[in-house]
Amino acid sequence: MTSSTPAGRNWAGNVELRAPRFAEPTTVEELAELVQSASRVRAVGSRHTFSALADSDDLMVSVEALPGSVTVHAERGTASVPAGMRYAEAARELDAAGWALGAMASLPHITVAGAIATGTHGSGDAAGSLSDAVVALDILRADGDLVTVRRGDPDFAGAVVALGSLGIVTRVEFAVEPSYCMTQVVDRGLPWDTALDDLDAVMGSADSVSLFTRWADAERIDQVWRKTRGESVPAALPGAHRAGEAGHPLPGGPAENCTDQTGVPGPWFERLPHFRAEFTPSHGEELQSEFFVPRDRAADALHAVRALGSRLQALLYVSEIRSIRADELWLSGAYGRDTIGIHFTWRRDEPAVRALVLTIEAALAPFDARTHWGKVFTADPELLGRAYPRWADFTALRERWDPRGVFHNAQLAAWGM
Ligand SMILES: Cc1cc2nc3c(=O)[nH]c(=O)nc-3n(C[C@H](O)[C@H](O)[C@H](O)COP(=O)(O)OP(=O)(O)OC[C@H]3O[C@@H](n4cnc5c(N)ncnc54)[C@H](O)[C@@H]3O)c2cc1C
Repeated sequence: MTSSTPAGRNWAGNVELRAPRFAEPTTVEELAELVQSASRVRAVGSRHTFSALADSDDLMVSVEALPGSVTVHAERGTASVPAGMRYAEAARELDAAGWALGAMASLPHITVAGAIATGTHGSGDAAGSLSDAVVALDILRADGDLVTVRRGDPDFAGAVVALGSLGIVTRVEFAVEPSYCMTQVVDRGLPWDTALDDLDAVMGSADSVSLFTRWADAERIDQVWRKTRGESVPAALPGAHRAGEAGHPLPGGPAENCTDQTGVPGPWFERLPHFRAEFTPSHGEELQSEFFVPRDRAADALHAVRALGSRLQALLYVSEIRSIRADELWLSGAYGRDTIGIHFTWRRDEPAVRALVLTIEAALAPFDARTHWGKVFTADPELLGRAYPRWADFTALRERWDPRGVFHNAQLAAWGM
């Protein structure tokens, strides 16, 4: 069904999506007809990206109404998930069947296809990004063909984090594992020296570790959120103390919006995300940016951001520091190197944020920082080409798959694609 209803705004409300036509096909055949009849098409997920990445100057499609449910392929340890399904629902269905994912983002509200398209990640030394869990995906190409790309195929490493530029993803197959339980605890007041002198010890102290800071306290990191598989609860980190009551990553935010932090064991999908599916995640009126630096240079990169401390305060709600295992996906922030993500949740003042982001990008340039595709950044095409070693391969892949640029848009062009 196609409508001329305006495509609407993104989740944060900072971008108006201007696609003149919006469609929610209910069959793959209908989707193929729509794609072949449009001059330009972009897929949209749950609109949590902070730019016009999903926008189109002709047709925007959502695959949320395509039929399908989670199907487990136990013999090969994978599960197929409809591309438009939100992680919250996919996780519940997987768990009900006795299976689990190894990683989730801070929020379960996002769609499977939208998340993997931008290299979305959680935290954990042994956890790859959400994209890295993909073993196959079905993509509807501009010529109307539905193709399956599998791990091991020559195009796979370019096709997972593809920013919607190769076609419309209709199904994603993930590596899964038997369902497990986890605990989550929060420590407060971790000395910066403890963290920076041995970042590996801190980030490796649980299966998933997130450091939250406003960079305001020169001595201590405000909060450390730690998620551990099984029923054990790790002791407080050296120099830190266990939080007395449940909190929120943003100072003063409502604790009830967040997953349990009391050390009580619970299902993996109710501990891995910070935010609960039935509440607004994070703040709402905000922008976000995130930069990826190599793990082995992360302590120096964090020193560089700390040096900006006072300049960040006026615009910053909070920063989060996470770890992501290296992968082989060409446009992934963790391509080819174990990675530390340095994230910023900003007040929604876009001109001021963009000016400050330029300063952060300059401070992190010596560390070959990459950027989160779904968040706010300013890097010019030349820098992007240098930050992503397989940029030229990706460009060639995109031109081969979509020579007429049906899945192209203004945002991709601005990034030099
Ligand atoms: C509150 C909040 C918390 C966040 N937390 C995290 C976090 O913990 N970790 C992290 O890494 N990121 C995080 N993000 C960023 C978010 O995960 C990414 O922006 C993600 O891409 C959003 O998914 P979406 O379903 O909203 O996709 P959209 O924003 O709708 O689209 C994103 C991209 O996916 C493409 N796409 C969507 N569907 C398809 C499809 N079917 N086929 C092909 N391409 C498609 C679009 O064209 C677009 O290029 C957060 C964002 C918010 C707002």
